Formats: sequence, structure tokens, C-alpha cells
Amino acid sequence: MNRAVEDLAPSMRAEASLANLTISGVEHARRESSVRVLIICGMLMVGCIVLGTAVTAVNFRSRALARTDGELRDTTLLLARHFDQQLDDFSALQGTLSSQSAFPDIGNTADLNRRLSTLDLHRLLQATVGRNDHVGSLSVFDSTGTLVNSSIEFPVPDISIKSRSYFRDLRDDPWRHSSMGEPIPARIDGDWVTPLAQKIAGRDGTFLGVLRSGLKPGYFEFFLESLALSDGAVITVLHRNGTIIARYPHDEAAIGEVFSDRPLLRKALLDGTVGSGQTVDANNGQELIGAARALRDFPIVIVATRPVIAALAEWRKQTQLLAAAAATSSLLIAAIFLLIVRVISKRYAALSSRLAEKKRKLAVDKDRLDTAINNLNQGLMLFDGNNDLVLFNSRAIEMYGLSTDVIRPGISLHQVVAHRKQTGSFHGDVDEFCAKLISELGQSSPHIVRTLDGRSMLIVNKPITAGGWVALHDDITERTRSERKISHLAHYDALTDLPNRMLFHARLEEALLAVGNGTVCALLYIDIDEFKHINDSLGHPVGDQFLKIVAGRLRGVAGSRDFVARLGGDEFAVVRTGPAGTESLVCLVQQVLEAIRAPYTCLGHRLSSNASIGIAIAQEHGANLDDLLKKADLAMYAAKADGRGTYRFFEAVMEARLMARRALESDLEQAVVTRRFSESGFEVQYQPIIRFIDRSIVGCEALLRWHHPVRGMIPPADFIPVAEEMRFIDELGDWVLAEACAEAANWPDHVRIAVNVSPIQFKNPGFALKVASTLARANLGIGRLELEITEAVLIEDDDKTRATLHQLRGIGVRIALDDFGTGYSSLSYLRRFPFDKIKIDRSFIKDIDTSGARAIVQAVVTIASAIAMTTTAEGVETEQQFATLQALNCDHMQGHLVSTALPAIELRRLFFARETEAFVA
Ligand code: C2E
Ligand code: CA
Ligand code: CA
Repeated sequence: MNRAVEDLAPSMRAEASLANLTISGVEHARRESSVRVLIICGMLMVGCIVLGTAVTAVNFRSRALARTDGELRDTTLLLARHFDQQLDDFSALQGTLSSQSAFPDIGNTADLNRRLSTLDLHRLLQATVGRNDHVGSLSVFDSTGTLVNSSIEFPVPDISIKSRSYFRDLRDDPWRHSSMGEPIPARIDGDWVTPLAQKIAGRDGTFLGVLRSGLKPGYFEFFLESLALSDGAVITVLHRNGTIIARYPHDEAAIGEVFSDRPLLRKALLDGTVGSGQTVDANNGQELIGAARALRDFPIVIVATRPVIAALAEWRKQTQLLAAAAATSSLLIAAIFLLIVRVISKRYAALSSRLAEKKRKLAVDKDRLDTAINNLNQGLMLFDGNNDLVLFNSRAIEMYGLSTDVIRPGISLHQVVAHRKQTGSFHGDVDEFCAKLISELGQSSPHIVRTLDGRSMLIVNKPITAGGWVALHDDITERTRSERKISHLAHYDALTDLPNRMLFHARLEEALLAVGNGTVCALLYIDIDEFKHINDSLGHPVGDQFLKIVAGRLRGVAGSRDFVARLGGDEFAVVRTGPAGTESLVCLVQQVLEAIRAPYTCLGHRLSSNASIGIAIAQEHGANLDDLLKKADLAMYAAKADGRGTYRFFEAVMEARLMARRALESDLEQAVVTRRFSESGFEVQYQPIIRFIDRSIVGCEALLRWHHPVRGMIPPADFIPVAEEMRFIDELGDWVLAEACAEAANWPDHVRIAVNVSPIQFKNPGFALKVASTLARANLGIGRLELEITEAVLIEDDDKTRATLHQLRGIGVRIALDDFGTGYSSLSYLRRFPFDKIKIDRSFIKDIDTSGARAIVQAVVTIASAIAMTTTAEGVETEQQFATLQALNCDHMQGHLVSTALPAIELRRLFFARETEAFVA
């Protein structure tokens, strides 16, 4: 029961572990969220990289654009300065041509017409143009705007420029000396030229006309070619009015086009000198970045543009690199984070699977514990520190017929007891009971309570280390009952219900303590005579019934100072404690004997019996139990030896007899173990069997003799039972059979040999085979052997015995039924097996002339002849007996009248002497 209490500890541990596992689950969830945080961090880092890269790229882009813008501004500044200078220089050169120094005497238009319309001047102009690749023509116009001379052709055609703005500017503005017009296709060759006119004035400053040169686009483009322009950059030289003067790279189609709405141009014009910004190419819609700058002294604007796409080419490459680096690092970071997450997840997965496994195992454990608890034979209730029910098993419910609707975890002890009261398994004050139980917890030892319905409950209320306490109720009703039964069985004989040997010993010990001061203790050791015979011949049920009756009778005889016990088998004891003196004892013994001798009816069988009683008295014969028992036993054997059916008080000589028996046993053992029977004094003698009609010897019975070297002749009746008891009879019997067969082989052929066989020998399954081989070895005809068996062989009536008998008959061995008439139901045995011969026991022959024995013998002879069996009368000692038996038609006889058993040698001599004569003593 205490074990059951200790067994609860794992149960509670399992519960606690399951709770811990739930906490671990929360932790697990927390860890999972940290994995999520880790993933978010990784994503944020990647995001930062992407954002940073984007910002940098945008920054780089605007820088690249700013740089291009700066470059273009610088370029336009440089070009504006350059072209200002170049045009100044050209103006100066033209000025020298148109100055007074070149035409000193020209005072008016007429002079001019005259003096400057010469071929010489034409050639001069031609030469000047020829020296300058990018100047298309040099022409002189008079104050009316009419062409006077030209480098192109001579005489000049009628051409007027009076409508041209540059002409009008110079004519109308006395302060202007030079003026530039918008590009126009040359009248002569159609090439686009930009006119640059120089005022020709008289000495007094009168406007006389203009010297006009036509600047080809190449004039500008030539210089632009020498510049190392950035990729995609375009420089456009425009007239203030938006007309394209020149373009690099050169585009013939573009020259002369008007782009007055160009934002950059407008900006340059607006800003005065410089402008920059982004625009869109009107031709192809391409985004451009550009800068414009107006020349200081000439109506020219330099516009430098570059496609945004080209400006950003480098930036794009950089951005691509940057993006690649960002992507790589993002991937790297993502990979690292993923790796970390994976490692963590793996660990978590392993951890959680371990936890799941643990949980499963614990659940299994719990399940097993539940099963174990519910399969406990005890009713169990576990209470916590507050005396509230935590756990209970089904046995506890069944035991008291409680209801699970009421008995649930969580209810209080008080409620449990109240429910018990309600359902009738408790009758008392609930409050008082609970208070007492709780106050005595830990101090009360297991105690047994008898319930109202008569059950015994063993109850343990035990505190447990984990807190609280456990109540175990064990219904020990059956156990107590069976313990009592076992105890009874242990002390009382199941058949007779008398005290058995164990209780007998205890009681005798007790009785021995009272011995002294005139009080003695007498032990009567009672052995039923011939009980074995009753048991063997009538069967165990009859034997059992018989013993029960004996026990009852002994009980009836025993007085208040006596007690009766069964010591086993057919042995009983009566112990009397009382005052010394044999008289009352003898009286008791007589009563016992009378009781046993009274007739019995057992299961329809009428029986009579007797007993041998040995008596030993304490302290006269022995003071202790063993001594007293031994001596009573010896006295009982003495009574048996003295003819049974009587009693003997212990005498010292009995011990001597016992010693002699022990010596006999030892000598017998010696002879059997060494197989030296002859040397040990054994001899087979032969008693002739005579035929009545002619008194001839028809056979001989082999009778064993033991000439003991020390104790002299020992009769077979003394040592054969000992040999049987000691299981030596097989060896001894074999030896007798072999000796007898070998001897009989020397006899006349018609003389049979009869050999006595013990029932024990018959139990040997190979007995028939053994007989056959012995006969063969002795070279004796099988028909000459007769085996004498007693009823005891047939008593068990088992198939084996019968099979052996039939085997023997089968090979031709004759079977005789020995000692006929001494058993119980001899006639029935005659039906069981077809014997060859019946040997009528000596006891009938002895009394044949005096009592009813003659009638019995007569009946036996008649029956035997009716079923074709011969008869042999045993122990015939007188002629009268001989005559009576002969008259009764008995077939054969043996007895001292004719011959005692003779040694082999004597018998041989007898055969030799009276080979064919009748044998008469
Ligand atoms: P049993 O088989 O009934 O043998 C006959 C007994 O009667 C023999 O006693 C024999 O000597 C004795 N007897 C024969 N004629 C007379 C007579 O006229 N008057 C008297 N008073 N006795 C006579 P024994 O030799 O002492 O044998 C006793 C028993 O021992 C035998 O009884 C037999 O049961 C047993 N026995 C003897 N030899 C053997 C043996 O070799 N094997 C077995 N198993 N038993 C043997
Ligand atoms: Ca015999
Ligand atoms: Ca006999």
C-alpha cells in the first residue's frame, strides 16, 4: 500500500512536466517572433541599401547634369569670347578696307560709285575673299543700297540691299559702324551666308555705303571643329532672331532655320549674356541640357546642347555599378539573415520536435499512470494542501458506490465525506470526522475499519512530499477471509478437519510445557492396520470416507484434556495431559481401539478395521517433542510387529529393534548396490509342488532365503517388505528370476518353476521383455515358468499392468494368483484376468478341518475348474489336510507335509534319486 503512495510521485511529476512544457511553448512562440524581427531587420537593411543607392544615384544624376550644365556654360562662354574676338578682328580687317585710308577721296555716293566700281577693286575683293576660306563674298553697296562692286562677279548685277536691316541700321544710325544681318542664302550661289556689314563713311562722317562680307557657316564651324566636344554635344550659332548661322556638327539642313522660340535662346537674350537649363529637341523630342550665351558685340547667340541621355551615360554606368553593388550586398545580407533564420528555425524545429516527443512520452506516461491508478485494487483519493480532491481512481468510486457527478477534482474532503454519508457508506459526524482525519494526518498508521455492510477496509492516510495527502482504501474482506482459510488449511487437515502435523507439533509443545508436578503428557501414535489395502482395493474415495469416520470417532473418544490430530495418511495421534498413572491411559487406548474396530459403511462398502497404537509418556520416555514422537512411533511399530490391532508402551528394547532394522536396510543396500547377492548370503531355495493324483513333482516354488553372516537366517517376510520399501525389489527379483530359471533348466522337462513377483516389479514397463530375455538366457522353455502374483498387482487395475500380464501370457508364461482368499474381493479378480492357477492361502488350509474354510476351499476349487484354472493348496502340513484337499478335487499342493523349501543342490539330488517315482515325504 505504501508502494502505491510512492507511485503517485511520478504521476505528479508527469503533471508538472506537462505544465512546464506549456511554458516552453510560450517561449517557443517568443522565439518565433524574434525570428520575425530578424527577418524584418534584414529586410530593413536591404531597404536602406536600396534607398541609399537610389538617393546616391539621384544625387549623382543631378551632379552629372550640373557638371554637363557647367561644361556647356563654360563652352558657350569660351565660344562667345572667342567669336566676339574673331568677329572683332574680322570687323577690324573689314574696317581697314572700308576706311578712309582705303578710299581717301570718296566724298559722296557718286564718288563712291565711280571709284569703287572698278575692276581693280573687284580683283582686290576677289583676292581678299580668296585668302579667307570662310568668307563667301565681299561686296560694296552705295548709300542707296545698290551693289557697286563684288568679289563674285564683275560687272555687278543690279542688286539692292536697301531693305536689309543691317543696311538700314548702318544708314540710319550714325554711331554704328558695323552691323550683322540674319543669314540668308547668297543670291549668287544660294549658299547660306551671314552678312557682316561695315559702314563706309565720308570724311565728315556721311554715310556713303557699306562693305558687306558674307560669312559662311564654316566661318564658325571651323573653330568649333577644333574643340573636343563631349559626346552628343551640339553647338549652334544663332542669330539673335533665332536663325541658325552655323552648327557643329555641321547640318546643312539646319542652317537658316529659325528657332526664335528656343527657350535657351530666349533665356540667353533675356539674361543678356548667359542662360542654361533643360529643353526638348523639337525634332526628335529628345531631352536636352543646354547653355546659351550671347556675344557681346554681335547679334549672335552661342547655344551648346547635349542630350540628357548622353550627359547621364557615365552616371548610368556608375548607377549600374552602384546598383550591382547594392544588389550584391543586399543579397549577401539577405543570405546571411536567411542563414541565421534557417539555423534558428532548424534549432527551433529540433527543439520543438524534442519537446513534442517529450510531451508525447509524458502523455503516454500519464496515460499509463492513469491506467495503473485505475487498475489499483485499492481505492485512491489524492488531496492537495487545502484538502481539496485532486485525483481519484475508479476503484474508490465503485468501492463506496459514489457518483462521479459529485466526486470531481476540486471538491473538498468535506464534500466527499458528505457524499459518502448521503450514499450510505459513512455514518457519523462529517465535520468531526474531517477535522480528526486532518489533525491526525501523518501520525495515524494503517488501520482496519469494519463497514456497515460487513466489509473490512484497510485505510492509509499519508501525507506526500509534493504537498497534500493520499487516502488509500483497501477492501481486505476477501483477503482476510482467505487468510483465515489459508491459516486454517495450514493448521488443519483438509479431509478430516483435525489439526494437522504442524498444529499438532505446536499443541504438543504447549502441552509439554505443562508437564511436571505430577502432570504427564501421553502421546498415542495410532496407525490404522491395513488401511493401504482398503485404499488400494476399494479406491481413494472409500479410503477418504473411512478416514473421515475414524477422525470423527477419535474426536468422540477424546475428552476435555485430550486433543486429536491427523499426522498424515492413516496415522493419527491423541494427546492426553493429566495426572500420572497408566490406568486412565489404558482406558483411553481401549476406547480408541474399540472406536476403530467398530464396523464402517463407506460409500456402500461394509468394512472392519483395526489399529496399532504406540504410547510414549513425557517425561518418563522423553522430555522433548522429537524424542516423544520417535518413541511413540517405535512403540507403534512394535505393536504392528506384535500382530497389529494392539497397543504397546514404549520400551527401551524397541530402540534396539530399530537399530537392527537400520542395519538390515544398510546390509540390503550393500548387497543390491554391489549386486553380490550370493556373497551377501542370499540363496534361492525351491519348495516342490505335488500333484494330488500321483504325488509327483509338477513344479517348484522359488523362495528367497537370506543367511545373514551376523544375524543368521532372516525370513523373507522380514526383508522383502524392506526391499520393497527401499525400492531394491527390482534388482533382487531379477536376480531370483535369473537364478531360478538357470536352476530349473537342470530339472526334468515337465517340472515347472514358480517365481514370486512383487507388485512393484510389475510397474516396470519392460518387465515382460525382461522375463523373455531371462528365459532365453537360461535356455528354459517358456511354458515352464509360472509367475506368482498377488491381488495387489491387480488392485490399481491400470492398463499398463493388464498389458504386461497379457504380454506375458502372450509369450507363454503361466500366471498364478497367489495368497488367494486373503484379500477383499478375490472373486472379482478372477474375472479380470484369466489366471492359469489359483494358490489357496495357507490360512484356509490350516483351518480346513475345523471351520467353514472347507466350504470356501470347495467353492474356490469349483469356480477355478469352471473357468479352467488349476488350484494349489499352500501350507499343507498334515495327511488329513492332504486327504481333505484331495477329496475336494484340489489339483496340487505344497507344504511341509511333503517338503520345505530346499537348496538347489538337494533338490537336484532328489530328482536324481526319484526321477520317475511319486514323491512322498
Ligand atoms: P508365499 O509366496 O505364500 O510363499 C509360501 C510361504 O509358505 C513360504 O514362506 C513357505 O516357506 C511357506 N510354507 C510352505 N509350506 C508351508 C507349511 O507347510 N507350513 C508353513 N508354516 N509354511 C509353509 P517363506 O519362504 O517364508 O516366504 C514368505 C513369503 O515371502 C512368500 O509367501 C512370498 O510372498 C515371499 N517371498 C519369498 N520368496 C520371495 C521372492 O523370491 N520374491 C518375492 N517377491 N517374494 C518372496
Ligand atoms: Ca508364493
Ligand atoms: Ca502364498
